[in-house]
Amino acid sequence: MPTRRTILTSITTFGAVAMSDLSALASAFLNAPSTPLMPALFIGHGNPMHAITKNPFASTWERYGRNLPRPKAVLCISAHWETTGTKITAMPAPRTIHDFGGFPQELFDVKYPAPGDPSLASNIVSKITKYTIELDHTWGLDHGAWSVLRRMYPKADIPVLQLSLDMNMSPQQHVRLANDVAILRRRGILIVGSGNIVHNLGRMRWEGPAYDWATEFDLTSKRLIEQRDIAKLAAYETLGTAARMAIPTREHYLPMLYIMGVADSKDDLTFFNESIDLGSVSMRSILLSGAS
Ligand code: ZN
Repeated sequence: MPTRRTILTSITTFGAVAMSDLSALASAFLNAPSTPLMPALFIGHGNPMHAITKNPFASTWERYGRNLPRPKAVLCISAHWETTGTKITAMPAPRTIHDFGGFPQELFDVKYPAPGDPSLASNIVSKITKYTIELDHTWGLDHGAWSVLRRMYPKADIPVLQLSLDMNMSPQQHVRLANDVAILRRRGILIVGSGNIVHNLGRMRWEGPAYDWATEFDLTSKRLIEQRDIAKLAAYETLGTAARMAIPTREHYLPMLYIMGVADSKDDLTFFNESIDLGSVSMRSILLSGAS
């Protein structure tokens, strides 16, 4: 059952929506026929300029947008929405958030007018009951979401919801929440984690090779992802000096844990955009294939 807090949030949101209406929404969602297992993606988004420039990373995003099964909606877990408590966007028309500075006006002019889906947000809140998820009406789409999605779905005609990162949760708790979120893959929803496995902006450099520690941890994570060793990936703080340099703060790493947390034994797992940009930002990305 939804917690008291989520119910209250939902009621506040929808005015006089009755409990029975909320239950009906949740039950319709649960009883809907399963769809084939949708793919899921972890995307290393890197430099926000990738949203508007011609670059090999975005070319791959565009290709996946064209070739993957068309989703009913996208649920994005972005590195750039850190909260206290887990939230999900529930507005009908999320704004485009330009959460960066020092970039050309052209990037600030980008709008990504994909719709939201308030009803789907309510359904998700009702379904995922082990964790309290609050409906949110203030966020929108941050650049972790839109920089990638505008290349995948340039028509902005697929609803997009964002799920926030509760920074009070441990990595292991994030994985458990992801385990519950995985059911959405059977409801036609494309789950996209957007971050970077190696992300140390303090050491970023415009020229020069990748740092040794960046390469080392990128390859360590590759091996653990191939082995689907989620416990070790979640315990990244025990993985030594390279891990500490690669993950000075965890918000760009956690979206990868979400995608490993929604992985299914039926998924083939492949990597794309396997390179290190700016010396200290791994673009390594993951495709979970889904299944029929
Ligand atoms: Zn970022």
